[in-house]
Amino acid sequence: MRIAIFSDVHANIDALEVVLAHIDTQNVDVLACLGDIVGYGGAPQECTTLVRTRAKWTVLGNHDAAVGGRMKYDYYYSAARDALDLHREMLDEENLQWLSELPMGYREPGLQLTHGRPDVPDSYEYMFNDEHARLLLEAYDTLENTNFIGHSHLTEAYRLERGADEEIQRVSAPRIEIDPHARYVITVGSVGQPRDHDPRACYVIYDTDERVVEYFRLRYDIKAAAKRIWAQDRLSAEFAKRLYLGI
Ligand code: ZN
Repeated sequence: MRIAIFSDVHANIDALEVVLAHIDTQNVDVLACLGDIVGYGGAPQECTTLVRTRAKWTVLGNHDAAVGGRMKYDYYYSAARDALDLHREMLDEENLQWLSELPMGYREPGLQLTHGRPDVPDSYEYMFNDEHARLLLEAYDTLENTNFIGHSHLTEAYRLERGADEEIQRVSAPRIEIDPHARYVITVGSVGQPRDHDPRACYVIYDTDERVVEYFRLRYDIKAAAKRIWAQDRLSAEFAKRLYLGI
């Protein structure tokens, strides 16, 4: 089976359409979204409709939880908060309802999907350095062979194997070979707001027969996405700027 896994769309329809069009050329069987469909960008309604209709599995991101009324966000910085308030108003009832009922995670033998660190999905912890990976080693028995996450908007990935000479190994994009005897925690990057200084949209395909995870980076019309943000006076222009910089 070939599973396309993407995350952190953040209301960027210009990036999402390019990613979905690319997925359609890749012989993919199933689409999965790791959350944060809304927040920051100019097209929350369009993005939510597309993800809702295209992805078989979608898990709840922190921005989705905030907009869906499942999480307090009064401690977020004001520009992010304003975007969430606006997005809640921009979503229709059907999308708002769907967003507010998303599960915290999805798992089946060999595969787990969450937004943040998989051992504590509802606290939305990050996983992007060796210290975080060490915490995951302590939760080894709760992990599946492959565990895909979003949240950091980065492309960090770790191979964990309890009792091995090197229990924690950083593995890296663009291609990861999956050893069935280890555990992998793989950050899939962000469709709509990459933060690894590469502004191109990012997603992965996991081929479960070949046991390979491959990253894809795609150019999209950043200016069009920026214009949608500039058109909303309740969205900070900073959100547009960071799309150009990939931060
Ligand atoms: Zn996010």
